[in-house]
Amino acid sequence: MTFRAEHLLGIEHLSPADITTLLDLADQYAEHNRQGRAHRDVLEGLTQINMFFENSTRTQASFEIAGKRLGADVMNMAMQASSVKKGETLIDTALTLNAMRPDLLVVRHPHSGAVDLLAQKVNCAVLNAGDGRHEHPTQALLDALTIRRHHDRLHRLSIAICGDIAHSRVARSNILLLGKMENRVRLVGPPTLMPSGVQDFGVEVFHDMKEGLKDVDVVMMLRLQKERMDGGFIPSEREYFHRYGLDAEKLACAKDDAIVMHPGPMNRGVEIDGTIADDINRSVIQEQVEMGVAVRMAAMDLLARNLRARRGAKAAGVMV
Ligand code: ASP
Repeated sequence: MTFRAEHLLGIEHLSPADITTLLDLADQYAEHNRQGRAHRDVLEGLTQINMFFENSTRTQASFEIAGKRLGADVMNMAMQASSVKKGETLIDTALTLNAMRPDLLVVRHPHSGAVDLLAQKVNCAVLNAGDGRHEHPTQALLDALTIRRHHDRLHRLSIAICGDIAHSRVARSNILLLGKMENRVRLVGPPTLMPSGVQDFGVEVFHDMKEGLKDVDVVMMLRLQKERMDGGFIPSEREYFHRYGLDAEKLACAKDDAIVMHPGPMNRGVEIDGTIADDINRSVIQEQVEMGVAVRMAAMDLLARNLRARRGAKAAGVMV
């Protein structure tokens, strides 16, 4: 097994072999989940704490189901972003939790880098469930698994990531992952929603949807992240939908077998037409949610194996 990581903090730290190992195991879990097979023993005896300092519906539920399916004792802590505005408070929270001796800590935080900081202070495996605009590694992995299952490969595909790139940790993790696996990534959106330094990302940039979607294999739409906007990034939602919202006319520019993705939650009629989102012949949005559980099971399984190996080696007095 190639995956030796202690934490899952971002795609940035993973090699193509790590990504393949994770996806191969997740694929097995996806099949087992479909057959209703349980895996109660994999995380048995381990405690998983989910700390979400920012709202979440699917990611938190997905991590909880994944942990429970693998037999972990799962605890959800309801965190309010307002109580952790200072770095010291976050570190204090980490130390308090660490004293409870968890084994897996799943953390979402509104500040980029906060999860990395926390990981330095605890003795367990930390999984980043989204930190600010920085990374959302399990989202990129579940997107990759969904793409691989539909196109039977995860290389040399042409993938358009569209919309609010600037505020999106999903876009950032996907750009890193898809680039590492040697795909052609296009970013499509208005100049105001492109991140600074985009010219160094190794991607092609388009400001016109029809040009950007031409002959792509995958169309990945992103939510307009209004909560991270502090000014007028778009003229109006109506105008935004007209120019950048995915509708049948724009989708017709992509390949005939192109799939449509969205990480959720969706703003129907803003970044995507509801009929496209619900079209089971094109949209794989529900499958992304399904693959989310499988990917999180795989990630926690692999991290727990590494954690047990490290603890075992420590107890035996050897270095790993
Ligand atoms: N659920 C994803 C995230 O937490 C995408 C989104 O919120 O738009 O980043």
